[in-house]
Amino acid sequence: RTVLVCCGTGCLANGSMDVFRALQKQLETEGGEFQVRTYTKATGCNGWCEKGPLVKIVPDDITYCNVKASDVPAIVDKTLKKGEVVKKLLYRDPKTKKYFKSHREISFYTKQLKVALRNIGEIDPANIQDYIARDGYQALAKVLKSMSPEQVIDEVQRSGLRGRGGAGFPTGLKWKACASQAAEPRYVVCNGDEGDPGAFMDRSIMEGDPHSVIEGMIIGAYAVGAAAGFIYVRDEYDLAVVNLGRAIEDARRSGYLGDNILGSGFSFDIEIVRGGGAFVCGEETALLASIEGNVGEPRDKYVYPTEKGLWGQPTVINNVESWANVPVIINRGADEWARVGTATSKGTKVFSLVGKVYNTGLVEVPMGTTLREIIFDIGGGIPNGRQFKAVQTGGPSGGCIPASLIDLPVDFDSLTSVGSMMGSGGMIVMDDRTCMVEVARYYLNFLAGESCGKCVPCREGIRRMLEILTRICNAQGHPEDLEILSSLGETLQVASLCGLGKTAPNPVLSTLRYFRDEYVAHIVEKR
Ligand code: SF4
Repeated sequence: RTVLVCCGTGCLANGSMDVFRALQKQLETEGGEFQVRTYTKATGCNGWCEKGPLVKIVPDDITYCNVKASDVPAIVDKTLKKGEVVKKLLYRDPKTKKYFKSHREISFYTKQLKVALRNIGEIDPANIQDYIARDGYQALAKVLKSMSPEQVIDEVQRSGLRGRGGAGFPTGLKWKACASQAAEPRYVVCNGDEGDPGAFMDRSIMEGDPHSVIEGMIIGAYAVGAAAGFIYVRDEYDLAVVNLGRAIEDARRSGYLGDNILGSGFSFDIEIVRGGGAFVCGEETALLASIEGNVGEPRDKYVYPTEKGLWGQPTVINNVESWANVPVIINRGADEWARVGTATSKGTKVFSLVGKVYNTGLVEVPMGTTLREIIFDIGGGIPNGRQFKAVQTGGPSGGCIPASLIDLPVDFDSLTSVGSMMGSGGMIVMDDRTCMVEVARYYLNFLAGESCGKCVPCREGIRRMLEILTRICNAQGHPEDLEILSSLGETLQVASLCGLGKTAPNPVLSTLRYFRDEYVAHIVEKR
């Protein structure tokens, strides 16, 4: 039997390492054949953070929720020795009161399709053999043995993969633009500077399946002819840095990184760079400046990084989830990978589902899945008998989508059409007690602190908008404030230098669009 203990950051915070150690200690005490025949693994995040620490037992297909170290004797005596379940540790549906033995039967998981998260929760991220046993590094071997760089780019282009970091730019096109440059050296970069409040998709992948990112980057480097790569990791993500560092070392030792990879003559290596601690460093040109050792400030994009990126050289920059999809595209083929999703948004997308919803956690669904399916079927709906009011997608620069659009399919274009965006995949659910003007103020306040100040529209515009929102929230607003907010927001969208300023007004403009009555009520109250 194998006992998988979820040791993602959420479960660790809830004491999963105590559970893991208690389990190992008890197995040592039992000793003998029992100990030898029972494997334990500390895995990455299973996604169901609400119910952690999670413990899964295979092949019995038993999932225990909210496990404590004191539950370990019961798990060992009843389940591992006698094959019986410990009922009090099973998930019990709060509505139907029904118990579930396996997480696979639970609505949180049945509507998900794990591609980028395919290995997380199943493998020990510290063990390269676990990754290899689940087809790890097969795509790399296939590419080096039987595909030209042009064929790799063509495969990624045919898959329709669009950047999972937010902008949704076609990945294959980006690679092609970089590969077509004459200048050398070229670089590939992984953007792991996930700074959106409430978002933890990329962290979970870097922590729980670091080799999938590394393998994707090696394939990308082969395709564009890069000899060096950098993974830029948000500074607060200690566990991700540790797990990526170990994975890079193991990949080097196994011949997947370094000189003459798998005897192909292709050489490539990866370095980890810790983030500068600023939200704006997630913007790709600011990120590149930060890697170079400069202040992490964006620059204009008349020249794209694929032409002049890191140290002025051609550079491909993709986010964590994009890189993690690349080995699957190569292994399954572009057509098979693209079978999932919508006409213009192929594949799956990972979301961190948080806020006023029963099942908070990490979910991966086919593009085109509706908000209703994500929030009510997977998320389990709104707790405490409250009503669903809105969902913020796309992080602090995204938009608030009202309940009337609950059947909106979630894909790049649908979200943009209603004034929000995909962003990197944050999804914050709000119930009927939420004041939408306060929500807009909260996000604008965050962005005012994170604006780098390089350009006037963003630096001054966000602050002026925040001042107006603050006085509206304090019942000191003026009737003309709403028009000024709209006008300032539209100016920021066109005049700001980088994506942070261009998208900063989204929370205000989307709440003005869908919840204008709440703004008016705040202003009328003053009279
Ligand atoms: Fe800096 Fe904002 Fe201008 Fe971007 S838009 S460069 S964050 S001031």
